Amino acid sequence: MTIFEKIIARHIPAEIIWEDNEAVAFHDVNPQAPVHVLIVPKRVVPRLADATENDRALLGKLLLVARDLAKKLDLSSGYRVVINSGPDAGESVPHLHVHLLGKRALAWPPG
Ligand code: AMP
Repeated sequence: MTIFEKIIARHIPAEIIWEDNEAVAFHDVNPQAPVHVLIVPKRVVPRLADATENDRALLGKLLLVARDLAKKLDLSSGYRVVINSGPDAGESVPHLHVHLLGKRALAWPPG
């Protein structure tokens, strides 16, 4: 079980801010910006590279949840949505998740 499956199952705590039957969103434990939320599907897809045609609707949904949470969290001056897929991207939890970062100016290009 990944750490995110344990959070979804309520085996370990997290600061959950949104949930439905397909996904959950909670604050990142090691925030990289004043707002740093993770949006995680309940169905395990290890990473974007492993997504299939079957995951099309779910992937779209994760982005729309990011949009909705950005509005709810008042990220009106902008925000960044990130998916790390694989070792070169720094992926550390093999359970697909979308990072939503905001409330500070974010540099580009990323490190
Ligand atoms: P990634 O590096 O893209 O795989 O992102 C994994 C993210 O999960 C990192 O930003 C971690 O800080 C975050 N994380 C790891 N464990 C927890 C946890 N127990 N609760 C909340 N966030 C976590």
